[in-house]
Amino acid sequence: MLDLWYTENWTENTRFSIKVKNHLHSEMSEFQKIDFFESEEYGKFFTLDGLMMVTEKDEFIYHDMITHVAMATNPKVKKVLVIGAGDGGTVRELTRYKNIEKIDMVEIDERVVRLSQQFLPVTADKLTDPRVTMYFEDGLKFVEEAESGEYDLILVDSTDPISVGEGLFTTEFYNNCFRVLGEEGILINQHESPYFEKFSKEMQKAHRKILDTFPIAKVYQFHQPTYPSGHWLFGFASKKFDPIKDHKPEEWEKLNIKTRYYNSELHRGCFALPNYVKEMLEGE
Ligand code: SAM
Repeated sequence: MLDLWYTENWTENTRFSIKVKNHLHSEMSEFQKIDFFESEEYGKFFTLDGLMMVTEKDEFIYHDMITHVAMATNPKVKKVLVIGAGDGGTVRELTRYKNIEKIDMVEIDERVVRLSQQFLPVTADKLTDPRVTMYFEDGLKFVEEAESGEYDLILVDSTDPISVGEGLFTTEFYNNCFRVLGEEGILINQHESPYFEKFSKEMQKAHRKILDTFPIAKVYQFHQPTYPSGHWLFGFASKKFDPIKDHKPEEWEKLNIKTRYYNSELHRGCFALPNYVKEMLEGE
């Protein structure tokens, strides 16, 4: 028997590999190459165009951090727009909040959703919640056409700024997010990794554009073992709320939402950035 390995080129000189038990599915959708695998160490996982998206073992970290930091800053959020997120993990976390009334999810590639429902029910099983409406279209176009002030929270759970994800890292997109958010609106977006230059350049550019759009724009970190370098960032931007000054740990803890990664101490800690990351954000 030959050993089967999934290998991803993190940089030209660095690779990350996982030993694979089964290559469950492979197809070329209208937008990207989709592969699902099964492994001993990470459980089932899937990749888009050869880049890791979600593994059963570490998805809780990403989905906790994209959702609960914003929700503990404004637990009164009722209307949420999720962009990307076809695996369903972000929506699953949002459905744990009883006061959320509406979750619009805009995923460009319906195949990612259907295959996640088939192979990854651990993330996809709340996509049928009655509060969720799925739209299969480009998030950039969706926000362009959405009503002003429609949402309290936007979570951008996208791929990297290449191919279909590129538009979600543009000033045009951020301006439209600002417009469709209400006065208390919060935007969380994927901010890439500070560690390898190919990702940190994108992170710097995205942050600069968000700073030009929102009065409050911060960056917070989390540890994602299967993403390049394992050190990854989200951006927090808001018209009104500062994630530290307006953090409401007592209100959030009363909701009794069980999390494996996020907690109130970590909420404060994740905004404390290493010096080299601060310098990158202050530079340019
Ligand atoms: N957590 C993952 C990560 O950062 O690697 C992202 C997960 S999720 C699968 C990303 C989704 O964003 C993909 O399914 C992709 O189809 C979707 N996507 C990319 N560009 C998009 C766009 N312009 N509009 C809507 N969805 C988009």
